[in-house]
Amino acid sequence: MQKQTVRDFDPQGKRVLVRVDFNVPIEDGRVKDDSRIRAAVPTIKYLLEHGAAVILMSHLGRPKGKVVESMRLRPVAQRLSALLARPVPITGDPLGIGTRDAAARLKPGQVLMLENLRFHAEEEANDDEYAKTLAKYGDVFVNDAFGTAHRAHASTVGIAKYLPAYAGLLMEREIEAMSSLLESVKHPFAAVIGGAKVSGKLGVLNNLMEVVNTFLIGGGMANTFLVAQGYSVGKSLLERDLVDEARDILEKAEISGTEFLLPSDVVVAKEVTRGAEHKIVPVTKIPNSWSVVDIGPQTIEAFIQALEPAKTVFWNGPLGVFEVPTFGDGTRSIARYLAARAEKGATVIVGGGDSVAALKELDLTDRMTHISTGGGASLEFLEGRELPGISVLLDRELEPAKAPAKGRAKAASSKTGPNASAKGPAKSAAKAGAK
Ligand code: ADP
Ligand code: MG
Repeated sequence: MQKQTVRDFDPQGKRVLVRVDFNVPIEDGRVKDDSRIRAAVPTIKYLLEHGAAVILMSHLGRPKGKVVESMRLRPVAQRLSALLARPVPITGDPLGIGTRDAAARLKPGQVLMLENLRFHAEEEANDDEYAKTLAKYGDVFVNDAFGTAHRAHASTVGIAKYLPAYAGLLMEREIEAMSSLLESVKHPFAAVIGGAKVSGKLGVLNNLMEVVNTFLIGGGMANTFLVAQGYSVGKSLLERDLVDEARDILEKAEISGTEFLLPSDVVVAKEVTRGAEHKIVPVTKIPNSWSVVDIGPQTIEAFIQALEPAKTVFWNGPLGVFEVPTFGDGTRSIARYLAARAEKGATVIVGGGDSVAALKELDLTDRMTHISTGGGASLEFLEGRELPGISVLLDRELEPAKAPAKGRAKAASSKTGPNASAKGPAKSAAKAGAK
């Protein structure tokens, strides 16, 4: 990795400020899903074991610059305390004399958590004074919050002006997994893209076009492509204003020789609700007053066949309205198939809040190669954008021989020559097989 990590400095005797993403669901004062907390534990443990005092910072929800009692981090601190088997006291506010003293008193091996950073509007405004105040609590800054890396906030970007900034272990794993897709991916590479809307995923489709051999499109966003191909989709979710863009993408795929699979049959329902009347129809016969809610069995079969040769798969977005179990067949079938493929050695990377929720329901998260903790961040990364929270981390010094003008792990570099040809041979083989 081209960024320096916690392994690149000596934590002994240092106060390390760690930005984590503890934005977890809380219900009745308890953490409902602690995956994000667990994901940060390796970094915290590493620092403690190497003699650091650890000060954790996170946001929770959208309190919009005010104290919101239900968005206090106490339940998170309690959960973390159980995971680390040591006390995790929490400050009453991220600012103030009390917080400053608590940070100053902290000894090696101890942990302190700051209260919700977004209780102050200055956090999201990336206010310089706020960043400076936070920076005073520590000697070193570590960012382990990949899920927030696409936001330039005081605790992710501003603070790096005042302290040496390193990647945490989770951040490192995320960057490596995501950049492997853009820079050193094993072909054939298939991308399964679903979810509600095309908007927000156009950038990813466009950027991945350079490296992907096969796109498999499902979910609500497939409707816009079906309309671009001349089908009608009844009452389904549709972004009419994006039909032209969808057509452009189809054309681009055609020109670049990228396979672009859309559903051939779908499940349609009279209402998008539990218990609604539903049936399977070919995409040529979607009834006027019905909505597409899932991909059909023939499509599942075709998707599985297309995924079979893939050495790498990226998946974002459920293939149907999986929250209603009857409309979750497509999502469940592909999830199970991909888990099996991952176990046979394929690299399967899944990103996106809802997609990961679907995998959790099926208890399949552990069987995938990598589950991204960042939905929006992972998409922006794959769009080839530079994430501000990653940019500010210290660059690793490159060995002179291979040092380019500016040695930054820039995902966008995948758009240039070498990668285009990297896709070449493997791809034509895949195409030949598929056609
Ligand atoms: P992720 O969070 O994994 O990135 P998105 O947020 O893009 O995924 O999309 C998830 C949502 O898409 C789910 O709530 C799901 O119900 C919805 N969805 C999937 N298929 C359809 C469809 N055919 N019509 C309407 N909504 C759909
Ligand atoms: Mg979502």
